Amino acid sequence: MSRRRDSVLREMGLAPLWKRRVPSAAVLAPADADSPAAATVSAPVPTDRVAAIAAMTWDELRQSVAACRACGLCRARKQAVLGVGDLHPDWLFVGEGPGAEEDAKGEPFVGQAGRLLDAMLAAIGLQRGKGVYIANAVKCRPPDNRTPEAEEIAACRPYLARQIELLGPRLIVALGRPAAQTLLDREVKIAAERGKLLDYRGTPLVVTYHPAYLLRNLNDKARAWEDLCFARAAYQRGAHPQSQ
Ligand code: URA
Ligand code: SF4
Repeated sequence: MSRRRDSVLREMGLAPLWKRRVPSAAVLAPADADSPAAATVSAPVPTDRVAAIAAMTWDELRQSVAACRACGLCRARKQAVLGVGDLHPDWLFVGEGPGAEEDAKGEPFVGQAGRLLDAMLAAIGLQRGKGVYIANAVKCRPPDNRTPEAEEIAACRPYLARQIELLGPRLIVALGRPAAQTLLDREVKIAAERGKLLDYRGTPLVVTYHPAYLLRNLNDKARAWEDLCFARAAYQRGAHPQSQ
């Protein structure tokens, strides 16, 4: 399995990135796979705000996110980061929240974790922007790359929900625990939920480890590779969550 994986990755020119040992602490987001993470269930959000966001067009959503001050994360951000990619994607990848480089550039996953994510995409024949959209659970950078808090995730969730509705992906991949908890709206352990076809409001959802976590936990890269293959197989057979 691992030799086959390596040869596939080598064929795709990915081995150096996928296997590189690069934990340079400063750049890594605090995305521990199963560390205590913010509970995502709770924190009531005003219903009129939720209804207004649920009715937005893509342009309205973009403008609203750019100007949003609904949670404390607005204070330290340089800019909100809505997402990047194909607006009618087959695949949606959801991370945790922008880091320093994302905050500066206005695009998700452009730092070190982003380079690993690009390699992960390439390993299953995908490319950023081509049938792929990349978003985050929260649109503004948590200070010091801390895990977003429950209130912040709850405040931002209506945006993610509308974003997903407008994008209409065929399959969603949650990267790491905060993303998985945000989408499933319950406590999640990646180790317990990976390898399952889950359901986000009728769209198949697969969870795996966050790339920043994988940079520090090299042993779990093989599991992430399995998860991506599982996701690709589900996508290829047009899996529907209820069919599992
Ligand atoms: N980590 C994330 O979860 N999202 C990004 O956009 C960058 C790093
Ligand atoms: Fe608004 Fe989301 Fe940014 Fe909070 S993180 S200010 S809810 S866009």
